[in-house]
Amino acid sequence: MDTEVLIVGGGPTGLMLANQLGRRGVRAMIIDRHSGPAQQTRAMAVHARTLEIYSKLGIAERALELGRRGNGANMWTEGKWAARIPLGDIGKSVSPFPFVLMLGQDDNERIMGEHLRNWGLAVQWNTELTGIKQEPGQVTATLKQPDGSTREIRAAYVAGCDGGHSAVRELCGITFPGAPYEHVFFVADTEATGPMVAEELNVYLWREGFHLFFPMHGKDRWRVIGILPKKLDFKQCSWFSIYRIHHRAAQKFRDRRCFLLGDAAHVHSPAGGQGMNTGLQDAYNLAWKLALVVDGDADGALLDTYEAERMPVAQRLLATTDRAFMLVVSDTWLAGLFRTRILARIVAFAMRFKRVQTLAFRTVSQTGIAYRESPLSKMLPSLPDGAPRAGDRFPWLRLSFQANGPVEDLFQKLDDTRYNLIVTGQPAPPGQALGLGDLLRIHVIPDEAHNARELARVRISGPVFYLLRPDGHVGLAGIRPEPAAVTRYLSESGIRIQGKKDEPARNR
Ligand SMILES: Cc1cc2nc3c(=O)[nH]c(=O)nc-3n(C[C@H](O)[C@H](O)[C@H](O)COP(=O)(O)OP(=O)(O)OC[C@H]3O[C@@H](n4cnc5c(N)ncnc54)[C@H](O)[C@@H]3O)c2cc1C
Repeated sequence: MDTEVLIVGGGPTGLMLANQLGRRGVRAMIIDRHSGPAQQTRAMAVHARTLEIYSKLGIAERALELGRRGNGANMWTEGKWAARIPLGDIGKSVSPFPFVLMLGQDDNERIMGEHLRNWGLAVQWNTELTGIKQEPGQVTATLKQPDGSTREIRAAYVAGCDGGHSAVRELCGITFPGAPYEHVFFVADTEATGPMVAEELNVYLWREGFHLFFPMHGKDRWRVIGILPKKLDFKQCSWFSIYRIHHRAAQKFRDRRCFLLGDAAHVHSPAGGQGMNTGLQDAYNLAWKLALVVDGDADGALLDTYEAERMPVAQRLLATTDRAFMLVVSDTWLAGLFRTRILARIVAFAMRFKRVQTLAFRTVSQTGIAYRESPLSKMLPSLPDGAPRAGDRFPWLRLSFQANGPVEDLFQKLDDTRYNLIVTGQPAPPGQALGLGDLLRIHVIPDEAHNARELARVRISGPVFYLLRPDGHVGLAGIRPEPAAVTRYLSESGIRIQGKKDEPARNR
């Protein structure tokens, strides 16, 4: 085998997958047909869930240094300021990163690309995937090399992170149903002056449509998307492009040993700045599963759960961004009236309420994504009402991990290369009885006033346990962490209980 995982595409999705596999010690190879990283900013918004993952990867600080916090969105209707929606801290009880970070896709790619060195990896540029042959136990991939010659390599798995025109998708014969939107859009990185509120997002709603101004680093620098406004003076434009937006989802995300992630699996309107972030989350979902299977710690069946979990997310996203997008681009008289007379007022009014703010934050930041219907999500009876459920991202809490000890950030304590067992109000069972060996970290939360208050905030009371998967989503939840129930859950998930581990899956 030349590599365990061949990653096709050095965009954000491929770079995230390569980093996640690299830090888990999986032998991976990442190729891209272009000669180097993309120079355009493209996506601008980095959401809280992505920053949480960046934090575990060790690149959040760099991203925060280079980006700008989006503290508010200003709504303008027919050129007049209408409302300001505070964005700065609306998620402060939900995430250590309670804001949207404005950071161009090029910077995200650079940070992740540089980080690959830590695992001895680098993108192999000018290298194009042109053929795939799926065989039992391996995939033979044909690569066109920088000098124009071709070579074949053998990989246990292929990850198609190769964008909307994915070669992996086409070579696997997977269809990509959907359609383009009728409008043609522009995107430009500019130096511009006008009434925009500096350092904040400015949303201009017109009878004929919309345009968005995202603040970029530097004086008067704005990323503009949409329809050109009349009362503006553009001094310089460093990048301009027009494009058609499609809404499509692949009919399946896996064909035997080949997977589709990011734009290769789904493309949608840019409403809510979800595109790049969703690709990064796809990679985070698949990486830990691939690592366990390649290392022989799980059966290949675990990989089926990638599509089971991520396809519903993509389909929901397509439906919601579609509706939101139609509202801002529809050119009917009624839609124009709604946009300019009603929309800004409704949004500004609704966002005064804490519950609406939190719901909006959870939705846009992707911290609210849950896999409750997944085969990996199991609930044992009698958890308190309203407490986190199996499939949810376990909430961000600040807890004391020793009696009278300091209050610490739970997310910093979790090891996202392993399962984490959180136990409250009772002693934990001995780690060796749970069958995960070194793949498990146990966190016992002492019964004390601060912890009780913090847990009550997320409706946890009394003795409970949560077994978190490496990606921080709840796998199994219940009252007593009986070893038999935990090992049964793990076996049903395809995890090989320690002591029963046999040869790595790649050899079978
Ligand atoms: C003009 C524009 C503006 C956008 N604005 C936003 C925005 O504001 N917010 C947002 O969230 N999203 C935005 N997007 C979407 C966002 O850019 C994508 O969702 C994101 O790039 C997806 O990342 P990816 O890694 O999945 O795919 P890509 O970034 O497309 O990367 C795929 C990579 O695969 C490589 N590749 C393709 N075929 C092969 C092959 N056969 N062999 C080897 N390599 C191959 C390509 O060279 C490319 O580098 C925008 C997109 C465009 C075009």
